[in-house]
Amino acid sequence: MPRPERVFRTEAIILRRYEFAEADRLLTLYTQTTGKIRAIAKGVRKIKSRQLGHVELFTRAVMMISLGRELHVVSQCELIEPFLPLREDLQRGAYANYIGELVENFTEFDEQHEAIYDLLNNALGWLSDPDVNLMLVARYFELHLLRLVGFLPSLFHCAVGQEELEPRDQYFGVLEGGVVCPHHANKIGTALPLSLTALKTLRYMQTQPFESVRKLKIDAPLHATLERVMQTYIAHTLEKRLKSVEFIRRLRRIE
Ligand SMILES: [Zn+2]
Repeated sequence: MPRPERVFRTEAIILRRYEFAEADRLLTLYTQTTGKIRAIAKGVRKIKSRQLGHVELFTRAVMMISLGRELHVVSQCELIEPFLPLREDLQRGAYANYIGELVENFTEFDEQHEAIYDLLNNALGWLSDPDVNLMLVARYFELHLLRLVGFLPSLFHCAVGQEELEPRDQYFGVLEGGVVCPHHANKIGTALPLSLTALKTLRYMQTQPFESVRKLKIDAPLHATLERVMQTYIAHTLEKRLKSVEFIRRLRRIE
């Protein structure tokens, strides 16, 4: 006897969208109730489907999802928030892709994690805001996602000797998972230099709400340092470089 299908209703954000079969789309979703899932939206490319008219990238919607044996199926989709600027502005879209790629790579399928859902939803809202610095959103998102998935870099104690860090210029040990004092950095030899200002900025981002973090005025060299440190650490943790990182760099070169 075929197993009865289980249907559930959840808020979800569309992280990725592929063409699938003739008229269908395969979606990677981050849902409020079930975490990351893959689901198919049938017939969306054939007609302007009334139930499924909103399966655009990065939109937030309430969805009815049937758990199939092999593939989940989205049977209804009610738009809540389209985050339009993320599809209309190439830069904003590139950053949205980046945070989506981070969520895809740092989470497992079918594991509910509502704090990740909320962080993702908030970050897409911040990236849509015309007055926000996109790099600040990216750094804030990285630090808070890393905390939620258990890879928060150590910013208050030396990642090698565990002693409390003194207020001076330090290093960042990618392999060691955090800030390393000059004494231990000298011994390991591979840590990246991290100024005291850069360290204080990372700590501020880690401990303050985004409404405070967004007011930070950061010069270009400090932005570049923070980006290099965080992205080197993330690439090492995931054991791969993300495609969206290279795309953001390319956009910057043609500006
Ligand atoms: Zn140390």
